[in-house]
Amino acid sequence: MTRVILKYAASIILILIALGTLGFALSPMGRAIGLVGVAMLVLLAIWCGGLVWFLHFRQRASPVARRWVAVVLLAFLPLLIAAWSNLHRLENFIEHRDWLTYESDHFVFHYAPAYSRQSEIAAYAARHDAAFEYNCNYLGVTLNNKVSFYVYDELAEGFAVPEWNEISADDDQSVGHEMTHIIAFHIAGERQKIKLIDEGVATWLNHSRRVTDHHQAAWEYIQEHDLFPLAELAHNKTFRRQRLQPYYPAASFVGYLIENYGLDAFRQLWTANAKYPEIYTTLEDFGGIQYFPFIPGERAHFTATVREIYSRPLGELDAEWRTWLEERYGQQR
Ligand SMILES: [Zn+2]
Repeated sequence: MTRVILKYAASIILILIALGTLGFALSPMGRAIGLVGVAMLVLLAIWCGGLVWFLHFRQRASPVARRWVAVVLLAFLPLLIAAWSNLHRLENFIEHRDWLTYESDHFVFHYAPAYSRQSEIAAYAARHDAAFEYNCNYLGVTLNNKVSFYVYDELAEGFAVPEWNEISADDDQSVGHEMTHIIAFHIAGERQKIKLIDEGVATWLNHSRRVTDHHQAAWEYIQEHDLFPLAELAHNKTFRRQRLQPYYPAASFVGYLIENYGLDAFRQLWTANAKYPEIYTTLEDFGGIQYFPFIPGERAHFTATVREIYSRPLGELDAEWRTWLEERYGQQR
């Protein structure tokens, strides 16, 4: 009887591990899957094999050997999980072990020994500190730890990993965008699921020197590219698929919401959609939510929270915002 239960339990664990591994590999945390990640997967497979061997053939081993195998199997898994969840530290260390650092009030900047603008790092840091304080204050967030910031001469696409308090960016990138992903993360302590407001707030507070009026940039985008209704863009797939991703319209809409309806309402909207379960988002990315009628879907959840917090449908807010843009910029053409 115990054997049967053990076998079933082992099979369930194996399936959970397989699903967990898949989810991990495809999640933002999956950036850690490199060569070391593959080694981890191999170790996991060895562990699974060991478990199956133990459950089926342990009778063939002597009692002492059996006991030791059991101990190793038990201890191996938590160790592997601990190693895995700290993998990014190891990879980070390996990748940046000879890098230099510059510490400012809110950041620890890391740069390669060959980094070409080292002499400007203090000014670079000062600009970031100022923007950081402004943005934290603007969003009503306080952060206790300094942000690790990896500065590159040339990096195709900058990114922030709020869970790790880390940014990697090209030094030409706008000062505020990536840091705002980290600051805004702390409104709810969870990753924002709706790109429209996630990229919206990061762009709204990017302190760009190139684009100083995001509302105007949004208006120009709408004139040139025909913007989908926001209710469509709240669907992350649709947002991503735009030829030129609608960052400026998103920024303008977020700015419009905050300036006209206040920060509190926006923080509520943010929190309600950051708390939307990660597992639902993952399922939706795989196109499997139709099998789970209790999952509302990102977009439906977002529009419901808009209606609840702003007491009107998203479509109405969308039209109101576009009319406001038209009144403000329409005459100039
Ligand atoms: Zn972004």
